[in-house]
Amino acid sequence: CGIVGVVGNDNTTKILLNGLEKLEYRGYDSAGIYVNNEKGKDFLVKETGKISDLEKEVSDDVLGDIGIGHTRWATHGEPSVANAHPHYSSDNRFYLVHNGVITNYADLKAKYLSDVTFVSQTDTEVAVQLVDYFAVKDGMETEAAFRKALSLIEGSYAFAMIDKEEPDRIFVAKNKSPLLIGLGKGFNVICSDAFAMLDSTHDFVEIHDGEVVILKKDSVNISTLDGKKVTRDSYRVELDA
Ligand code: GLU
Repeated sequence: CGIVGVVGNDNTTKILLNGLEKLEYRGYDSAGIYVNNEKGKDFLVKETGKISDLEKEVSDDVLGDIGIGHTRWATHGEPSVANAHPHYSSDNRFYLVHNGVITNYADLKAKYLSDVTFVSQTDTEVAVQLVDYFAVKDGMETEAAFRKALSLIEGSYAFAMIDKEEPDRIFVAKNKSPLLIGLGKGFNVICSDAFAMLDSTHDFVEIHDGEVVILKKDSVNISTLDGKKVTRDSYRVELDA
C-alpha cells in the first residue's frame, strides 16, 4: 500500500517510521522496515497492526544510513508477519518492498524458482527470489538481475530493493503504482506519496512507468527498462499546496 526509503542519512530508522505514520491514513494491515548500516549490521522488523506496534518492536540499536519501509494492504496471502514486507531472498542478500500485484507470479515461480523454499504466500516474494536467482545462479550484476526480473514481471508495481552486498544504493522501479524520488541535502528518499517525506524534503522527482532508478545519497540515475538515460527536473511540493 505505501512505500518509503532513505539512502545516506544516519536518521534512516526515524525517517522511515515517521514516513510510515504519515501513510497510515491510507489503510493497511501490517508494516515493516529493513535498515542497514556501514558496520555491516542490518535489521528487519515486521509487525501486524499499527505503526505504533511496529515502533515498539524497533529497538534502539536499529540504526543505519540506508533503509526501506512498507505498509501492506494484503492482496496475496493473509495479513501476517511472514507476509508483511520487506521480503527477502533465501540467502538474506536482497530486501524488497512492493506495492501492487504481480499477475504472473505463479508462472515465474514454476519456471525459475521450483528449488526455492518460500517463507510467505505473497506474489512479492517471487520478485525478490527472482532477482537473487539471476544474480547468484546466473552471476549477473545486481542492476542487470533487477532489470532481467522486471522484464519478466507482469502486473503493477512500485519496487524498492537493497542489496546487502552493495548497501549504498536503492534499486527502484515503477509500473502503474505510485512512486517518487525526494531530494534531501546529502541524502535522498523515495515514497509512494510526497506527504510521507515532507519533513525531510520539499523537492521531488517523478518516476514514470517502465523506468528504473538507481538512487544513491548524492545521485539519482533514471533510465528506461531498455537502458536509455532519462533526465528530469525536480518540482517543489509545499505543505498547503
Ligand atoms: N501484492 C502485495 C502483497 O499482497 C503487495 C500489496 C500492497 O500493495 O500493499 O503483499
